[in-house]
Amino acid sequence: MKKHVNIPIFLPHKGCQNDCVFCNQKAITAKLKPLEKDEMIRTIETYLSTLLSGNTETIEIAFFGGSFTGIPIKEQNKYLRIAKEYMDKGLIQKIRLSTRPDYINKEILENLKDFGVSTIELGVQSFDEDVLRLSNRGYSSEVIYTSSESIKSYGFELGIQLMIGLPGDTYEKSVQSAKETVKIHPSVARLYPTVILRDTELERMYSSGVYHPLDIGSAVKITKEMYSILTSSGVNVIRIGLKSTENIKEGREVVAGAYHPAFGQLVKGELIKEYLDSQLTENFRQAIFYSNDRCFSNMIGNQKRNEIFFKNKYSGRSFSFKIDNSLKDEEYKVALIK
Ligand code: SF4
Repeated sequence: MKKHVNIPIFLPHKGCQNDCVFCNQKAITAKLKPLEKDEMIRTIETYLSTLLSGNTETIEIAFFGGSFTGIPIKEQNKYLRIAKEYMDKGLIQKIRLSTRPDYINKEILENLKDFGVSTIELGVQSFDEDVLRLSNRGYSSEVIYTSSESIKSYGFELGIQLMIGLPGDTYEKSVQSAKETVKIHPSVARLYPTVILRDTELERMYSSGVYHPLDIGSAVKITKEMYSILTSSGVNVIRIGLKSTENIKEGREVVAGAYHPAFGQLVKGELIKEYLDSQLTENFRQAIFYSNDRCFSNMIGNQKRNEIFFKNKYSGRSFSFKIDNSLKDEEYKVALIK
C-alpha cells in the first residue's frame, strides 16, 4: 500500500508574538538557532533519500512548530521558495503549514497560493471564549469562523486543531468545539489532550493548584466523543494525542496531564470495544473478532485491554481476535459460535 509522507520542518515559536499558557515553544526556541536555508535543504534531502523505493503516493513538506504566517512575509518566502523548488521538480507534491486563526488575511493567503501551499491548519484549540481567554490565546472565537471561511474560499484544504482539558474547559465545551468544527467543515482535524510541559505558565498554574489537568480516563472519554462527532460528519481526524519524541515523554518535557504515548490507540480501542460489545446480543460460546492487519492492534486494545475486558465481562466464554484483510480500515466483523 502506498504511503503519504510528511517531511516536517520545525520552526519553533517562529512568528508568534503570543504566550499561550500551555506553550513551551519560547523555552525551546531560546535554546535553538533560527532555521537556516541549508539546514532545511539537508532535512528535505535526508527524507527524500530514504523514499526512493517508489512506495510513496504523496510527499508533503510540512511547516510546524510556530505560527508560520506570523513570520514577516519576506522570511516566509525564504522557506516557501525552497519548498516550491522541490514541488516544481516533482520531488514533493504538497506544502502544508500551521498557524493561528488571527494570522490570516488576504495578502497572506494570496502569497501562500502563489507558492502552491495546499493545506493550512489552524491551531484553534477551543471555540469557548472563557477557555480561549484563560489559555491566553489572544483571540475570540469569531476570528476562527472568518479565517476558516477565507482559507476555504481560496481553495486551500483546511485543518483544525483542538485541545481538550485547557483551563476552564469542560466535557460539554469540548464536545461543543467538535460540533462547531463540523459546521466549518474542515478536511482534517487533530485532537490534542492538554499536556503540561516544563517551563510553561500552565506548569506554574498546576504547581500553585490553580489548574487541574484531566486524568487519562476522562481525556479518553471526551476525545472519543469528539472523534465520533468529527468522523461521522466526514472530517478526517489525522492525529489524536501529542506525538512521543525524544523530549515529549514523562520525565523529560512532560510534567503532568493527559499524556500517554499511545493516546490515539486508547481512544480508537475504546470505540472498537464498544462496537464489538454491542454485537454480542445473542447467546454464544465463542466470539471471533476480525479486522484487517492495520487495525488489528487497535482492536485488541493497548496492552490487550479489549481482550481483557471481554474475558472479564463474559466469563466462561472464549474470545479470539483474527486478521481478515478483505475488511476495510475501521471495519470489524464478529462471528459467534453457539
Ligand atoms: S500561538 Fe502557538 S506558538 Fe504561539 S504561543 Fe500559542 S501555542 Fe505557542
